Amino acid sequence: MTKSPRLNWGLIGASDIAETRMLPALRRMGQSVQGLASGHADHARAFAARNEIPSPYRDYHVEALLCDPTIDAVYVSSTNDQHLSHAVAAASAGKHVLCEKPLSVNLDDARKITAQCNVLGVVLGVNHHLPAAGTHRVVRKLLRDGAIGRALSVNVRHTSLLPERLRGWRLGDAPGAGVVMDLSCHDASVVNPLLGTRALETTAITVKQGRWDARSEDASSAVILYEDDVLVRLHDSFTTPHTPTYLEVHGDEGSIFAPEVMTPEPIGAVLLRDERGEREIAVTDRRHTYDITLERFTRAVRGEDRPVVDGHDALNAMAVCASILESARTGVRVSIDFDLPTNPQERVP
Ligand code: NDP
Repeated sequence: MTKSPRLNWGLIGASDIAETRMLPALRRMGQSVQGLASGHADHARAFAARNEIPSPYRDYHVEALLCDPTIDAVYVSSTNDQHLSHAVAAASAGKHVLCEKPLSVNLDDARKITAQCNVLGVVLGVNHHLPAAGTHRVVRKLLRDGAIGRALSVNVRHTSLLPERLRGWRLGDAPGAGVVMDLSCHDASVVNPLLGTRALETTAITVKQGRWDARSEDASSAVILYEDDVLVRLHDSFTTPHTPTYLEVHGDEGSIFAPEVMTPEPIGAVLLRDERGEREIAVTDRRHTYDITLERFTRAVRGEDRPVVDGHDALNAMAVCASILESARTGVRVSIDFDLPTNPQERVP
């Protein structure tokens, strides 16, 4: 493995994902965390102390962090409705930006972020972590190498019970709440580069089915038509505690089954079934997806690579989500505002 360049990081957002996933990943990858900014000083103080983060910025102000010339890159993990202002401010201060998914709460705002990062020449990575997984890379390679012939359909089930500690803004009615922005955006970040074609149209139904007072959808079922008549089905929910996740790709010469791969843990398997029967395909890279994302991001900052998911990829994931929400709201089939797909051949496997 190539050693990642060491960057000085500032964190915007004293969030659960920063504490449980990204700080451990930053430390495993030998990155330097210089400080934290937050809109809630008391919460941030306790968060910084608990996680041994230096606190050089008065009252944890975003502006103070962004004025620090020693910071190379900013990790934005505030709530989804704040990604636009935080990511644009970070880019405007000349910092490279690793932003949490979804990139923003709608396509227009997400475009503003990518445009600002492009104009200012800073790297934008988006923390859709699943495409980095060793399992997902094996699935993409099998499809690209023709192991199942021509892809005809993809099924994704991305379901779990939303942990109690996360039942706040996700179940509220602020922009960016709900299971589509939370989980379907991950699915789209997986399926788009897997197929490498344009997503065309969506039909979707969303519901509120959990035993809580949700003000946004907590389960969603969507059917998406990609180019070449490929059918994609996404089932996302916060509501089922014992339902395993999976990714399946069915082709005219075989099928790929990947159980338990829609998860942050580096687990799951890849099975190939064709005329020779069924066999497990080896997955050699079992590193944490967040580590791989950080490795690729830091190398992108040095101009040696591209982020696993860049702004363009994140816009296309957002376009799929927007179409799911629009179809569910209107009850009609909706066209997807999809940009040109990134050629899968251009991707580092
Ligand atoms: P949290 O609810 O834990 O944190 C979001 C914000 O809420 C924080 O940034 C913080 O505000 C504020 N906050 C949290 N706890 C407190 C508290 N006790 N008191 C006051 N304020 C508090 O969100 P998540 O970590 O679940 O999600 C953050 C982002 O990460 C979202 O964009 C989400 O979509 C994404 N995410 C990505 C995942 C992935 O796998 N890539 C997984 C989970 C989440 P402040 O910013 O002011 O510090």
